[in-house]
Amino acid sequence: MFKKKTIRDLDFKGKRVLVRVDFNVPINDGKVGDDTRIRAALPTIQYLLDKGAALILTSHLGRPKGEVKPEFSLAPVAKHLSEVIGMPVKFADDCLGDIAKETAESLKAGEILLLENTRFHQGEKKNDPAMAKELASLADIFVNDAFGTAHRAHASNVGVAKLLPSAAGFLLEKELIYLGETIANAAHPFVAILGGAKVSDKIGVITNLLGKTDQILIGGGMANTFFAAQGFQMADSLVEADALDTAKELLAKAGDKLQLPVDVVIASEFSNQAEYKVVPLGDVPDGWRILDIGEATVAAYASIIQKSKTVVWNGPMGVFEFPNFAKGTFGVAQAVADADVVSVIGGGDSVAAIKEAGLAEKVSHISTGGGASLEMLEGKVLPGVAALADK
Ligand code: ADP
Ligand code: MG
Repeated sequence: MFKKKTIRDLDFKGKRVLVRVDFNVPINDGKVGDDTRIRAALPTIQYLLDKGAALILTSHLGRPKGEVKPEFSLAPVAKHLSEVIGMPVKFADDCLGDIAKETAESLKAGEILLLENTRFHQGEKKNDPAMAKELASLADIFVNDAFGTAHRAHASNVGVAKLLPSAAGFLLEKELIYLGETIANAAHPFVAILGGAKVSDKIGVITNLLGKTDQILIGGGMANTFFAAQGFQMADSLVEADALDTAKELLAKAGDKLQLPVDVVIASEFSNQAEYKVVPLGDVPDGWRILDIGEATVAAYASIIQKSKTVVWNGPMGVFEFPNFAKGTFGVAQAVADADVVSVIGGGDSVAAIKEAGLAEKVSHISTGGGASLEMLEGKVLPGVAALADK
C-alpha cells in the first residue's frame, strides 16, 4: 500500500503551495523539446489550482554546477507551460532572495509561479539547510511530484519536505505504484527484460529482480559480458572486462532464469553503414562486434512475453540509435505492446526507444525518471519519497 500522504489528503484552499516538479527537459535553441515531463505534471498542477491553491513551482534543469548559466534557465519552460496549460505562468529569475519572496507573496489563489533553476545555487545539491529553509519560507505546504529527482537528496526535494506539511503529487504516486507495488506484488509469470550498455550499471537491478521474477531476458551490450564470461570470443564487441567475475556469479546464481540471446547481429564497424549479418551465438570473428539481438531471439523472447502477466523493461536490446540495429529493440517493444500484460518501462534510452517505435501508448506505464526508475528496480527507497509525510 502507498504509505505516504498524497495531495488528496490535504486541504489547499487559500494556501501557497511549493511544488517540486521535474521540468528537466531538453531545450533546443531556447525552446522546449520533448515536453513529456511537463505534461506529466499537469494532473497535479490542475488539481491544486482547482482546490484553490497558489502554486510556486520549483525544478532543476541540466547541470549548471551551482552557477547561473543562461542556457540552463527555466524561462523557456515557463513559456511552454503557459501554452500547454492555457493560462499565464509567472517567472522569477531566482529561486531564492527578494525576487522569489516578493513574487511568491504577491501570488493569488489560482495563479502559477515558476522559480528559476534550483541548481543555480550550490546549496541545492548539498541539501543545504539554509537553502531549504528559504524555499520553505515561500509557502505553507510542500508537494513533491518530481519523480525523476527522487533518488537525490537535495534541498528542493528532501530539505524542504522536513520543514513544511508535505505530500506526494499524482505523478510521484503513479510512478511509485507502478515501479514499486506492481513489482512487489506482480502477477505471474513476471518477466524482466534487461539490456543497455553495461552489466555494471544493472547489477543491483538483476540481483533484486532475480528474487522476484520468473524469467529475465537479457539483451544489449550487457549480453556480451555474459557471453565472454561463458568463454565466447567477443572480438570488438562491448565487453566489460572488470565485470566478468560478477557476470559469472550472476549466471551461476540465476540458473535458467536468466535467458541470453540465441542469435545476434554482428557488424563490421560501429556505424549504421556497417556491413552486418545475423549469426547464431558463437565466437565473434575478428574485427566484428555484436550490435543487436537476432530474429530467433526476438521470436523466443516474444513468446515468453506473450505468456506473461507482468513485464518490466529497462535497457535497449541493441544499438537502436542506428536503424539497422534497432530491429531487436523494436521487435521486443512490439511484443510487449501486443501482449496482454501490465508493462512498465524505465530508463532514459529505453523510453526513447519505445517512443521512437511509436508504441508508447500501448504500455501500461512509461517512467519519467531514468536514474530514479533504476533505483526503484534495485528495490531501494528513494530519499525524495522517504522525506515525505506518512499517511
Ligand atoms: P537506459 O537509458 O534505458 O537505462 P542504458 O543507458 O543502460 O539504457 O543503455 C542504452 C545504450 O546501450 C544505448 O545507447 C545503446 O546504443 C547501447 N547498447 C545497446 N546494445 C549495445 C551493444 N550491443 N553494443 C554497444 N552498445 C549497446
Ligand atoms: Mg541511458
